[in-house]
Amino acid sequence: MSFSSETKSELARLNLDKKCCRAVALATFFEAGGVFVEKRNRLSFVFSSENAAVARKIFKLSKELLGCKPVISVSRRKNFRKNNVYSVRIPADREVREAVSHMILSVEDNPLPQCCSRVFLRFAFLAAGSVINPQRTYHLEITSPKEDNAERIAGVMGSFGLKPGISRRKQWYVIYLKDADQISDFLNIIGAHTALLNLESIRTIKGMRNKVNRLINCETANINKSINASLRQIKNINLIKRTIGLNRLPENLSEIAVLRLEHPDATLKELGEMLDPPVGKSGVNHRMRKIEKIAEKLEGRI
Ligand SMILES: [Zn+2]
Repeated sequence: MSFSSETKSELARLNLDKKCCRAVALATFFEAGGVFVEKRNRLSFVFSSENAAVARKIFKLSKELLGCKPVISVSRRKNFRKNNVYSVRIPADREVREAVSHMILSVEDNPLPQCCSRVFLRFAFLAAGSVINPQRTYHLEITSPKEDNAERIAGVMGSFGLKPGISRRKQWYVIYLKDADQISDFLNIIGAHTALLNLESIRTIKGMRNKVNRLINCETANINKSINASLRQIKNINLIKRTIGLNRLPENLSEIAVLRLEHPDATLKELGEMLDPPVGKSGVNHRMRKIEKIAEKLEGRI
């Protein structure tokens, strides 16, 4: 199951204890995800989801709040993924339609109490939301065909301190979060605590991996730097050897030059330790710089 599906299954299983929240949940489903279908002169409201738990939730809520007899059916999507699609068909006679529009209006007109605001976001996400597996990237979105509904979702998110973006995708408005902290907060607000823990553990592992990679890169850069320095020193020493000969150098320089030619991989510190008496890294570096100056002079003469 995808990260998105797991999150939805978790959310759909949460109980709605308060009546106010149940009405908001059903109204949000109707607003965000359903279509009216007319068949044999009978109007139905149809809501489809790839998630069985989400379909069961709308089935239960509509039976409870509208007193109607919804029907669930399963079909297989014809696209390449061939996922199951669960459709909930709610007979939409006049009484049901009136009850639903009354419910939607009462939800839209009044500022929602906090319990209902959380439920509103949870069901907007259940109806038309998705979240990409945080192992890949951080992206959570809710789509809506209606601009006012999209603005409302963004507004309720804003009341919790979130800062969603809104963009257009064909006929859809997309309300999205791209920041890991914000996605984490959103999952917390809507009650997806298992998804939140999974997100946080993936973030920790990713953070550690980045740190390790940074250290490795840094180490590699240092190794490259010392290899390049060693190659340059060898080139200088060989130039001196070819032109005037190493024995013309002062003894402290010729001994380090010989050691460098014998140990091209050694660090300056290691070269210093091979001397008798040993010399520190900066001492070796100082001698290498003198060798470089001599090589530069010789090069100028050639
Ligand atoms: Zn409530």
